[in-house]
Amino acid sequence: MGKARTQKEHDRINATEYPGTRQMCVDCDTPTGRCEDDAIWTNLAHGPLSEECWDKYRDLDEKAERLDAVIGYLEFTVGLTTENVDFVSEVLALAKGESDG
Ligand SMILES: [Zn+2]
Repeated sequence: MGKARTQKEHDRINATEYPGTRQMCVDCDTPTGRCEDDAIWTNLAHGPLSEECWDKYRDLDEKAERLDAVIGYLEFTVGLTTENVDFVSEVLALAKGESDG
């Protein structure tokens, strides 16, 4: 027989391997009240989360999504590259008189 599992391990296994059973929040270790199908995860694949903890991430997640969209837009429509970003930064520094040249 294998090693006895702790209650926490049971909860983790139940949360990840048995849809429909009690799912625990990765942040606060309380039941999320959800199952595999409607689990809450952030865009960065952090989860599952309780609704209470999701509130802490919701704003950040939406901002990350918008930032992603802006960067995607610039890359595809303006042809922004890392070199362009450096160049723009240099120009802005010059304009603000921050250059030592
Ligand atoms: Zn939580």
